[in-house]
Amino acid sequence: MTDFIHTLSDGCPVRIALKHSAKKNIILRPLAADAASVNVPKWFGRRNLQIWLAEHENLLRQTLDRWTQRPSESLSDGLPQEIWFRGGRLPLATDGSADAVVLDGSRILLPEAAPAEQKRLLKAALRRHAAQTLPPRLWAHAGRLNLRPAAAALTDAKTFWGVCRARTGIRLNWRLVGAPDFVADYVCVHELCHLPHPNHSAAFWELVGRHTPHTQAAKDWLKRHGRELFVLG
Ligand SMILES: [Zn+2]
Repeated sequence: MTDFIHTLSDGCPVRIALKHSAKKNIILRPLAADAASVNVPKWFGRRNLQIWLAEHENLLRQTLDRWTQRPSESLSDGLPQEIWFRGGRLPLATDGSADAVVLDGSRILLPEAAPAEQKRLLKAALRRHAAQTLPPRLWAHAGRLNLRPAAAALTDAKTFWGVCRARTGIRLNWRLVGAPDFVADYVCVHELCHLPHPNHSAAFWELVGRHTPHTQAAKDWLKRHGRELFVLG
């Protein structure tokens, strides 16, 4: 469904589905928190649209916000249709032949089971993936910055992405597996920089900025989509 990726001024990618119609105006519709369909007149090519989207970024953002603000379907027993995984929105599908959750990069296959059980299995699979990827990512940054925490572990916290304590080390929220890698990188660097600066002083932010060029884009991404990473609870 995606015809091209449009990059917003803060670096966030938006999937664009292009449709030509007999109408003379341009119509935007949200398809997901990071995707929109755009109806354009027949003579309006992709290049024209790319320029138009850059000039009308506010309109595109408002369109995407309409998706985020739509009344959400009840998730009490069911599952969402798609979830964030490493910065992409992956559709969920039930596969009768699967005996475990399969994260194949373009979609997520779930074994046949009641929705509540599928949700439990999916959450466990994402947590395992987080355990395999987030602490190694943190240790790689620790080596690069030469700032070594006492330990690295995951947390199930509902209110923060990471926490750093001198004695117990750093804990990262496992739900960061949903975020793009540059966001996970930012959280790792943020927590590591708390080792020399256990505060949010100007010196702390100066150090963070020096070690990750994507600070603002990552903060924006979390502000925009962070809540959606809690869709499974
Ligand atoms: Zn902090």
